[in-house]
Amino acid sequence: MLYDILIVGGGPAGLTAALYAARAGKSALLIERESIGGQIVFSPLVENYPALPHVSGAAFANSLYEQVEALGVTIETAEVSAADRTEAGFRLTTDLGAREGRALILATGVQHRSLGLPDEEDLVGAGISYCAVCDGAFYAGRDVAVVGGGDTALQDALFLSGVCRAVTLIVRRDRFRGEAALVKKLAEKPNISVRFNSVPTGYLTREGELTGLKLHTPDGARDLLVDGVFLAVGQVPCSEAFAALVGTDAAGYYEAGEDCRTDVPGVFAAGDCRVKGVRQLTTAVGDGAVAALAACDWVDRA
Ligand code: NAP
Repeated sequence: MLYDILIVGGGPAGLTAALYAARAGKSALLIERESIGGQIVFSPLVENYPALPHVSGAAFANSLYEQVEALGVTIETAEVSAADRTEAGFRLTTDLGAREGRALILATGVQHRSLGLPDEEDLVGAGISYCAVCDGAFYAGRDVAVVGGGDTALQDALFLSGVCRAVTLIVRRDRFRGEAALVKKLAEKPNISVRFNSVPTGYLTREGELTGLKLHTPDGARDLLVDGVFLAVGQVPCSEAFAALVGTDAAGYYEAGEDCRTDVPGVFAAGDCRVKGVRQLTTAVGDGAVAALAACDWVDRA
């Protein structure tokens, strides 16, 4: 089957693109490699989405998914390994076989960045986590650290403060990168402490389990004994499979402007995976709408 629009990525940008495509009467196939919802499902509480003052990221994603599914969009779970141009448009190579469409929207999102310290990968699930919502309960009543100073780290620390005995936030600079409203809330939590100008240099372990963090601090090397470490040190784009098709910047973000058009006619990029200044839920869904309407226009003109 030749779809009007292929959408890769089932986060807020991809789901919104599917919503707009379906409502415009276009046949759309959305392909997601993991679970629907993208990074927002890891946000314990979203408080900056207009008209939804308090919503969990998972509830938001689920509601959007149901809205899209009800419109009859075909949704598949598959890994896309390559994308090529064809006479009719584009072909995706997936582990379910080839999928073809006239236009292509890349909403492939981002994934967590790691620190790259020794033993880090082996300790994931044995004391290191990238998801406070998923793993916080394992550390109920215990001491944890959160590394990072952005919105994710602030949200994670706030969430964990309600579950854990003590939360230490490790920030590499002398200030936070995240939203002032979250910083204000943080100051109201007596069981959260912050160590500025501190950088993790290694992990303390016993019998394969994490027991703490080695830190470089203004006072020299210090050990911080904790039961769990939550890493929230930023994100990297998931664009490898498409880098041969469309242009990316040095970090791997698709080169596309606010109109979401890439350097390949008929291919659009939406959401956190696009070169942009503000990566928020609001801007991701905005991109989804812009990209879908541009793709619809492309299909109508072809
Ligand atoms: P981020 O904004 O890039 O922040 C990453 C943090 O980790 C920064 O404090 C950074 O320090 C620190 N960091 C980076 N590399 C490090 C290293 N090697 N060692 C120690 N610290 C390191 O990432 P994020 O918090 O995941 O947020 C990503 C995007 O999603 C942002 O645009 C954010 O606003 C957005 N977001 C939005 C929501 C929402 O809409 N509600 C929720 C979560 C995230 P520096 O400041 O020194 O670089």
